[in-house]
Amino acid sequence: MYIQPVELHSFITYLVCSRCGERYEHTRVQSVCTKCGGTLFARYDLEGVKASVSRNSLKGRPPTMWRYREVLPVLHDEHIVSLGEGYTPLYPLRRLGEPLGVSLLVKDDGAMPTGSFKARGQSTAISKARELGVKRVALASAGNAGGAMATYAARAGLEAYVFMPRDAPSVAKLECHVMGAHVYLVDGLINHAAAIVQRLRERYGWFDLSTLKEPYRVEGKKTMGYEVAEQLGWRLPDVIVYPTGGGTGLVGMWKAFGELEELGWIGSGRPRIVAVQAEGCAPVVEAFRKGAEGVEEFPDAHTVASGIRVPKPYAGEQILRVLRESGGTAVSVSDSEILECVREFACEGLFVCPEGAATLAGLKRLLDSGWVDRGEVVLLYNTGTGLKYLDALGEPTLPTIPKNADLLPAA
Ligand SMILES: *Cc1c(COP(=O)(O)O)cnc(C)c1O
Ligand SMILES: [Zn+2]
Repeated sequence: MYIQPVELHSFITYLVCSRCGERYEHTRVQSVCTKCGGTLFARYDLEGVKASVSRNSLKGRPPTMWRYREVLPVLHDEHIVSLGEGYTPLYPLRRLGEPLGVSLLVKDDGAMPTGSFKARGQSTAISKARELGVKRVALASAGNAGGAMATYAARAGLEAYVFMPRDAPSVAKLECHVMGAHVYLVDGLINHAAAIVQRLRERYGWFDLSTLKEPYRVEGKKTMGYEVAEQLGWRLPDVIVYPTGGGTGLVGMWKAFGELEELGWIGSGRPRIVAVQAEGCAPVVEAFRKGAEGVEEFPDAHTVASGIRVPKPYAGEQILRVLRESGGTAVSVSDSEILECVREFACEGLFVCPEGAATLAGLKRLLDSGWVDRGEVVLLYNTGTGLKYLDALGEPTLPTIPKNADLLPAA
């Protein structure tokens, strides 16, 4: 006998402005609050979710982020644009952790389609855009978001426009180009690229998918929080160290923990959230140190960790709120520490991106200052694979030997 599988569905109810509380419908295309410009966040009928799903019932679901179907915003399954993203590995790093005296874990989004966690946000945003009839999408990107958008747009059959800094990683440029996006290099930084999208989007009929300019990328990114909780048996680590650029990852994870508590799947305990930035671009660290409410533009932003080269994150206030509510902190590290930590991760068989490496560098600083105690459970979030960073990491100098070599040159 064939049993019709029960179709899972979204429990999304409405969107709400994070600043003024105005509500918006999720059944129409929305960007930011039309009253105050605040970011819109999706709300769900979590009581309904609680009544229909249990933690245990997730066990048989496919190992992708879409296993959290009920708390994702897409109404109809046929609109889901998926390449099998999410449910990436989470495992201990004993060799790196033991000398540091902490119980060290990594969540590895280097294993994502398009090589970075940006696929999470683009999978939900492109799915929802397609569901609402959007045909043409655009965004400003430091590299990986553009690659992910171009990829998911290609899969969905949408036209994509990507604006990235001229010196963005060449692999990301290539990725967008191969995926058939219209790619423009901007003689400036990501905020200049964002201003171009803002200025031209009406004229060219684009829907702006830039960070937090639409409500659904953060929904995909919140699955990082769901996965961390589920993979750790519904307990959370003491500390999560996250490389922070635009901040959607951090804001998304925090939203996830709030929803999970409402669902009764976790308790009220939270990890202390640490934002790691590069010394050459540390606007959040500066604002946190000053006790400011908002984030000011960081002058002359530069770092090898291009994904966190965001001189003025649009979600500055929200990032600071997460750091403070969680009892967390913000720390900056140098590019040479970052590159050194790329090498250190290799002892665990991991080729992390510079942003991911920055988390280890940040943790070392926090151990030195005593902010992290020996014996704590610390999760480093690796946001992407090192394989996308050929420019930053450089081609190694290696010995070349003749075809018929019978002796190796001295090392
Ligand atoms: C975009 C990006 C970041 C920053 O993430 P946010 O959530 O925007 O702060 C970190 N690492 C990599 C590899 C990225 O592409
Ligand atoms: Zn508002």
